[in-house]
Amino acid sequence: MRLSRFFLPILKENPKEAEIVSHRLMLRAGMMRQEAAGIYAWLPLGFRVLKKIEQIVREEQDRAGALELLMPTLQLADLWRESGRYDAYGPEMLRILDRHKRELLYGPTNEEMITEIFRSYVKSYKNLPLNLYHIQWKFRDEQRPRFGVMRGREFLMKDAYSFDLDEAGARRSYNKMFVAYLRTFARMGLKAIPMRAETGPIGGDLSHEFIVLAETGESGVFCDKDVLDLPIPPDDVDYDGDLNPIIKQWTSLYAATEDVHDAARFESEVPAEKRVNTRGIEVGQIFYFGTKYSDSMKALVAGPDGVDVPIHGGSYGVGVSRLVGAIIEACHDDAGIKWPEAVAPFRAAILNLKQGDAAVDGACEKLYRELTAKGVDVLYDDTDQRAGAKFAAADLIGIPWQILVGPKGLADGKVEVKRRSDGSRENMSPADVVAKLA
Ligand code: ATP
Ligand code: MG
Ligand code: MG
Ligand code: MG
Repeated sequence: MRLSRFFLPILKENPKEAEIVSHRLMLRAGMMRQEAAGIYAWLPLGFRVLKKIEQIVREEQDRAGALELLMPTLQLADLWRESGRYDAYGPEMLRILDRHKRELLYGPTNEEMITEIFRSYVKSYKNLPLNLYHIQWKFRDEQRPRFGVMRGREFLMKDAYSFDLDEAGARRSYNKMFVAYLRTFARMGLKAIPMRAETGPIGGDLSHEFIVLAETGESGVFCDKDVLDLPIPPDDVDYDGDLNPIIKQWTSLYAATEDVHDAARFESEVPAEKRVNTRGIEVGQIFYFGTKYSDSMKALVAGPDGVDVPIHGGSYGVGVSRLVGAIIEACHDDAGIKWPEAVAPFRAAILNLKQGDAAVDGACEKLYRELTAKGVDVLYDDTDQRAGAKFAAADLIGIPWQILVGPKGLADGKVEVKRRSDGSRENMSPADVVAKLA
C-alpha cells in the first residue's frame, strides 16, 4: 500500500475526550471514529487490525473443533421470553419495534438463538458434542460507554456455544475453549490470565475470565505472580486428548477477579512476595451453565437409552473489538503504538527519506515491489512529508519494521532497518531486507 493513496487521517493534537492511552492512540492514528456514544466507524488502518485479530480468534476456534456460522444481529423478543431473560436483561438491551409492531432486539449475546437453532435439528446424543460459534456485532446499551472501543455500545464479539449430553462432556468442551483461549491471546502477543469469575446474568456454576493486567482495566484482580509465566499450549495440542493436565496447571495457582476473591484463601495459599493485586481488562470469558437454557427452552436429545434429556451447555465470549484497545494498552510507548507482528496493520513500512531523489525513489520502488511480491504487508511512505514527520507517523501507527531509505545509506548500498518493539537499528542491503522479512 502506498501511503499517498491510503486513507490515514492522523491527528496532530491529543483528542481531549480520550481518557486512556489506547483510546488516544486509536484516534490519533486514524484507526476509528466515534459516530455516536459507544458506536464507532472503523477506518482502514483500524479495520486491518480488527480483521487480523478476528482471524486469529477464528483459527484457534476452528483448531479446537468449533464450527463457524453467522447469526443475525436482530432477534425476536419472544425467543428471549422463553428463557425468561427478556425482562431480566434490563436497560442494557436495545429493544426495537418493526413496522408490524413486532418486538425485536439487537442481540447483546446469543444463547437463546443458538439454543433455538440447536433444538430444531439435533435430536440425538449421537450428534454431540457440538460447538457452534460466530463473530458478530453485539449491542449493549452500556450505562457508561467509555475508553473508546474498550467499552463500546456496539462491539464485535466472538461467541461460541457448546452442547453436550452430560456434565462430564460439557467440562471437556469447556476445557477445549480454555486451552483455545490461552493460545488465542498469546498469539496476539498478550498475557491474558484465566481467573475464576462470577457467572453473572448468564447463570451457571463454572466460569473463568481471561484478563490482561493493566492499570487502566476496569476489573480488580488477585493472583499468584507465578501464574504470569506459565507455558502456553503448543499449536499441535491434541484437543481430543486429555486436557486436564493443562487446565490443572493453570487453575491450581490462585487467580480470581474481585467478585469472587477470597482474601483468606489468597493469604494462606500465596506467599506475601508473590501476591499480585492489580487491575485488568476482561478480554474473554467462558461459562459452563448446565441445563439453564435447555430446560427453559426444551433443547432435549435422546440419550443412549432412548430417554430425552436436556443438554448441558456452555458459552464462550471473546471481545474482538475490545482487544484492539487492550493490545495497545499493553504495547505502546510515548511515541505511539508498538503492534505485535501478528496483529499489525502492516508488517513493514518503507520510509522514503528524500522523495524526488532518483536513486532513493528507485530503491524504494524496488523494495516495495519485491516485498509485496513476497507477500509482505508493506506500507510505502511515498508522501512528500519531511523525514521527521515520516518517522513520527510510522512510530505512531506502530509498524513493527521500518525500512529507512536515504541517499547517504544508499551511497554505501545500505538501508536502515528499525525494529519498533525495541528501537534497535541495523544497516543492511535492500536484498538482505527482503530476505529478512519475506
Ligand atoms: P464487562 O464486564 O466488561 O462489562 P461482560 O462480562 O459484560 O464484560 P461478556 O458477556 O462476558 O461481557 O462478553 C464477552 C466479552 O465481550 C467480554 O469478555 C468482553 O471482552 C467483551 N465485551 C463485553 N462488553 C463489551 C463492551 N461494552 N465493549 C466491548 N467489548 C465488550
Ligand atoms: Mg458487561
Ligand atoms: Mg465482566
Ligand atoms: Mg464477562
